[in-house]
Amino acid sequence: MAFPTHSPYVIVGAGIHGLSTAYHLAVQLKSQGKGDGRDIIVLDKSGISAGATGIACGVIRNNYFQPAMRELMAHSVSVWESDPKAYSYHPVGYMQISPESMHADVASIYEQQQAIGYESRFIEGEKECTTYMQGIFHDWQAKGITSVLHEMPGGYANNTKAMYGLAGKAEKEGVRIITGVTVTGFTSASDGSINAVQTNRGNIETDFVVIGAGPWAKSFWEMLELPKTVDIKNPADGSIATDIPMWVYWSLQEGTLGVDPKMQVTNDGDMPPVIHVDTDAPLYSDVDGSLITDKMWGIYYKPDFHFGGVQGGAAPFIVDKPADHVQVDPYGPASPEFIVGPEFAHMWVSALAHCQKRFSGTMPQYKDEPSGGIGCFTPDSFPVFDLMRKNCFFLADSNHGYKMLGVGKLVAESICGNHKASLLEPFSFSRFANGELHPVSNSPFPWS
Ligand SMILES: Cc1cc2nc3c(=O)[nH]c(=O)nc-3n(C[C@H](O)[C@H](O)[C@H](O)COP(=O)(O)OP(=O)(O)OC[C@H]3O[C@@H](n4cnc5c(N)ncnc54)[C@H](O)[C@@H]3O)c2cc1C
Repeated sequence: MAFPTHSPYVIVGAGIHGLSTAYHLAVQLKSQGKGDGRDIIVLDKSGISAGATGIACGVIRNNYFQPAMRELMAHSVSVWESDPKAYSYHPVGYMQISPESMHADVASIYEQQQAIGYESRFIEGEKECTTYMQGIFHDWQAKGITSVLHEMPGGYANNTKAMYGLAGKAEKEGVRIITGVTVTGFTSASDGSINAVQTNRGNIETDFVVIGAGPWAKSFWEMLELPKTVDIKNPADGSIATDIPMWVYWSLQEGTLGVDPKMQVTNDGDMPPVIHVDTDAPLYSDVDGSLITDKMWGIYYKPDFHFGGVQGGAAPFIVDKPADHVQVDPYGPASPEFIVGPEFAHMWVSALAHCQKRFSGTMPQYKDEPSGGIGCFTPDSFPVFDLMRKNCFFLADSNHGYKMLGVGKLVAESICGNHKASLLEPFSFSRFANGELHPVSNSPFPWS
């Protein structure tokens, strides 16, 4: 098929956001009699799931301290639930297991989940938490846990499999996904709107652009000549912090223990919820008993046949250099710089053994293969989902996004309805200048 020179809608990026927007936009256009999937093309310089989406752990949860994030996640979970087969979605639930320093934050998450009808249980007290956890895993042994939030919906999806399911749904609606095409810039009209997308294979004239570029968000921000820094208003006292860099990279640490995934079934032999533990209990090596840390630490894990073992991660760390100096390509496991090393494996497997006795002595089974990758974060570590030019929706999810399957649906509704969906409002770029910031939790993770 000839390379297109015009398309009413051009979507950049064949990750979760680009593909979800493409599919839902096709459905919306058709249902409103405004066109269909043949009016949409998706461009990707590599392929489907070549970015962060293809290496994500795939965890889907609601557990967020920020009300706007919780509402958005509840919406996304409903989209995952709408077609579990195509989305390779495993609704096993999710558990946030926490120490006393996070008790009050998690209690408020639970209360607000009840208020929005998101089904969860909240267990409080050290003894009660141990009993509850041992009712699921007989070998549970983590100490110092004083609250457990058990979300019944959510769980995880098999990352690339789900994306091929989503791409198939989009293509069935007539969307054309063109891979191996690099977007290099945009041509603008005098009113600032984009009238063509420039690529290494020629220009594509268009009426509307959506950018879902994950870790490459900064490059597209620059192509659109958007500000490199922002001023942020402190909502408490009205003071302004000036010249805060718009982008910062974090390195995500994940890996797989190459055991039979069934090793992690529940006492009843079922596939278990995704486990996320944050704790301030000292962490000792499962290999030689040495102290690994006596500071707050956190891990998450789940059995996953797609990864071939028990897969998960630990708290990420900030890439300690200005964003302009960070090399995003080659991305993910192909990066010589941003893959996890033996320190991560030692910490993570020891942490698994700290939580459940069955993992003690499994260090030799850790899969010694490249894993992990970087994420491009905004100044407050929450997404910017906004119209950044008259006809350009920018989806910068600040690395929250595999679980956010519903965002593309909201973007499609916004485009077709000519007004921004209310669930996306709290993620406007103007929140920095207006001081409309999201509350911050006591979790060690930048995304809770
Ligand atoms: C290790 C790791 C684990 C994670 N685990 C989870 C998790 O368990 N749950 C969760 O909710 N989130 C998780 N995330 C975050 C999540 O993966 C991302 O937030 C999400 O996948 C971003 O999706 P996206 O569609 O915006 O970008 P991506 O999936 O990165 O897609 C962007 C696409 O743009 C393409 N592209 C880039 N530049 C160009 C160009 N110039 N021209 C054309 N195409 C271009 C790329 O090839 C890529 O395919 C994780 C992230 C990492 C790194």
